[in-house]
Amino acid sequence: TQALLQRIRAHEHLGAFVALDEQASLAQAHAADARRARGDDAPLLGVPIAHKDVLVTRGWPTTAGSRMLAGYRSPFDATVVARLGQGDDQHAGAGAVTLGKLNCDEFAMGSGNEHSAWGPARNPWDTSRVPGGSSGGSAAAVAARLVPAATGTDTGGSIRQPAAFCGITGIKPTYGRCSRYGLVAYASSLDQAGPMARSARDCALLLSAMVGPDPDRDATSLDLPPEDYTRGLDDPLPGARAARPLQGLRIGLPREFFGAGCAPDVQAAVRAALAEFERLGATLVEVSLPRTELAIPAYYIIAPAEASSNLSRYDGVRYGHRAAQYEDLLDMYRRSRSEGFGPEVQRRILIGTYVLSHGYYDAYYLKAQQIRRLIAQDFVAAFEHCDLLAGPVAPSVAWPIGAQDDDPVAAYLADIYTLPASLAGLPGMSVPAGVGDSGLPVGLQLIGPYLGEARLLHAAHQFQ
Ligand code: GLN
Repeated sequence: TQALLQRIRAHEHLGAFVALDEQASLAQAHAADARRARGDDAPLLGVPIAHKDVLVTRGWPTTAGSRMLAGYRSPFDATVVARLGQGDDQHAGAGAVTLGKLNCDEFAMGSGNEHSAWGPARNPWDTSRVPGGSSGGSAAAVAARLVPAATGTDTGGSIRQPAAFCGITGIKPTYGRCSRYGLVAYASSLDQAGPMARSARDCALLLSAMVGPDPDRDATSLDLPPEDYTRGLDDPLPGARAARPLQGLRIGLPREFFGAGCAPDVQAAVRAALAEFERLGATLVEVSLPRTELAIPAYYIIAPAEASSNLSRYDGVRYGHRAAQYEDLLDMYRRSRSEGFGPEVQRRILIGTYVLSHGYYDAYYLKAQQIRRLIAQDFVAAFEHCDLLAGPVAPSVAWPIGAQDDDPVAAYLADIYTLPASLAGLPGMSVPAGVGDSGLPVGLQLIGPYLGEARLLHAAHQFQ
């Protein structure tokens, strides 16, 4: 813990951390030592990790990258934070030590960590470039070896895409596998937490501690017991020989993920990774996800709609920023929200309010929900021919900071390969697949069927 805190201080220029409390981290580390001395063998005892700043943490500030929540301190831990760390009255803790809070796009809205009120996080491979987003601080911190692992959240790609841009491994589990209690809400029907780390094995270790039901606190958390995802990682698939451990695994390549929109160097790196999967015994089959393109308009209606509703709680009354001067109640709301929310968040609230308004609901929101169902059906059809899907995480490598300032839609379009699994609630993973022409990391995306986390992590581990 001490060594990493020092390393974090030496890498402040990456903008990865937005809150540190060295005394608190060291106190947790000492407490972990004492527990170990008593023979406690909790799975992550004493392992230092850090949390994306949209997960609330007792003892550390939580701002969700927003001025709106400047100075906010939660009196409780998010369930995934408690389960990884010190536990709470409902969950045992795996014993990890909290090193601090990690930068992210404001309320997790973004793809480059450029929309944080606390400034951008930077890609350690090239600090003039974005680390991806919205979990950019998490990806940058793991890639720069400031932490061995971190939490992220993924609504439409925010674990997978920054993991790809920074050359690390990340997994978004099936919707509902991790409790959303204490995850500052963006789009509740899509939000899901997951681990970001150096390897599939480390992700498996963290994910095993994160998953599990939370019936009293998140009604959408799945009623399934935790699972040990590290079990069997090193074993070949049933019936396969050690030399070809993935013999029998059918990997589907969605035609729509390999089209002209994907940069040639990204395609080449992904193809090379797939060739390695073939050497490991897997078979590649072509499949189709015909509604892939529709995922963008559907997501960018559903997510802002839910956000506009979720963010109505920031009214300057109960918590969050309140304008210093105002004339009446409405003026206080208006000024507090105009000052507290950044431009991208305001844009999403406007879009969301518009598509939900009377007279437009049927034309936009209802249609988007119908498309969402069709996209889920596309996956069901594709999984009749394969066990996993594979393709790129993003159509390009990390872009220069500021390159998309004048064109918010360009960033939305770049989410094309991550949005479909999000809309379908399926688990998705980003695995490092070498570098593109510029020497920047490329990520291979693996998508699993419902609750296919173990299958994803096993394949990724065998590949690594
Ligand atoms: N880039 C997408 C968005 O801005 C996804 C973000 C996320 O997964 N939190 O909404």
